[in-house]
Amino acid sequence: MPRPILATVHTGALRHNLQIARERAPDSRVWVVVKANAYGHGIERAFEGLRAADGFALLDLNEAERVRALGWRGPILLLEGVFEPRDLELCSRLGLWHVVHCSEQIDWLAAHKTQPPHKVFLKLNSGMNRLGFKPQAYRAAWARLDALTQVDEIGLVTHFSDADGARGIAHQVAAFELACADLPGERTLCNSAAILRHASKPLQGASNLAADWVREGIALYGGAPDHPEHRAEHWGLQPAMSLRTKVIGTQDLHAGDTVGYGSTFTADAPMRVGVIACGYADGYPRHAPTGTPVLVDGVRTRTVGRVSMDMITVDLTPLPQAGIGSEVVLWGRSNHGAVLTADEVAQSAGTISYELLCAVAPRVPFEVSE
Ligand SMILES: *Cc1c(COP(=O)(O)O)cnc(C)c1O
Repeated sequence: MPRPILATVHTGALRHNLQIARERAPDSRVWVVVKANAYGHGIERAFEGLRAADGFALLDLNEAERVRALGWRGPILLLEGVFEPRDLELCSRLGLWHVVHCSEQIDWLAAHKTQPPHKVFLKLNSGMNRLGFKPQAYRAAWARLDALTQVDEIGLVTHFSDADGARGIAHQVAAFELACADLPGERTLCNSAAILRHASKPLQGASNLAADWVREGIALYGGAPDHPEHRAEHWGLQPAMSLRTKVIGTQDLHAGDTVGYGSTFTADAPMRVGVIACGYADGYPRHAPTGTPVLVDGVRTRTVGRVSMDMITVDLTPLPQAGIGSEVVLWGRSNHGAVLTADEVAQSAGTISYELLCAVAPRVPFEVSE
């Protein structure tokens, strides 16, 4: 029998979460962001749950090829654009739309020979200072693109640094409105946090901030972008991935006994612990401390001691019936109905659900279920 760990992608949850974005941004088209292999879910496994999207947004050209291979004929957007001139050949061949964020990418387009002309989104650096043209350089970049026969449509894009937090987006929206004021073209600003928290706010020249397109990533997969201020249930999101395993051993501890490497946990009274078949080599965060939530037979309990490569120890105090073979949910949905969000586990481990979902290791087998 294989080791009992298994990850499940929930097609119905993906569909449901996409619908939540549609309700928040009813007049916009939705790019489903499937970079990082659909945030660790697997593009092929997630596709069925996402096919009601208006477009797929991603980074890697090979991911774009995979989406086309699944039969997707609609828009695909390269969120970082091309990495070298010859990538433009593939854009032409696969009909990819691509972000233009630097003048080198315009130079490459100007030298590109293949028909038909491309659809691009010109990126404004509205304050995040990662990719994009500064506001004072934006119009000149737009004019250069507009003059190219290689380009037939220019959309306008920016990305928020603080849509999930206290600083908010007003300063970046103002920069976008100023830089783009009378430029034609489709607009896209919102990531998951902005879709959920801000999409209905007004935007100059468009009905609202959701604009022509929104770009939804983590919320599709059931992560609350602003956890713990809001939990996934608050936004009506369902986990699209469950990572489950089983108890493979138990130990009865006396007061004073320690657990695992480094003896970081000491029992202060007699207790029973379960050993589960999941460790950091499966992608579970090694930094998750004692007390990180976990479900055993649908009951919330906690990890104790250090996470090791292949095993984690869990407190079975609330579960006198549990033993070898008991279901363990690291995150996602239990067969007993309970849910533990990746957000909660991530918070305990000092990270975000994005990182946990993307980090599920290749040795973990996956299944797809409704
Ligand atoms: C990853 C990404 C998104 C999606 O972000 P979420 O927070 O996961 O919704 C949107 N836009 C760009 C440019 C991105 O790189």
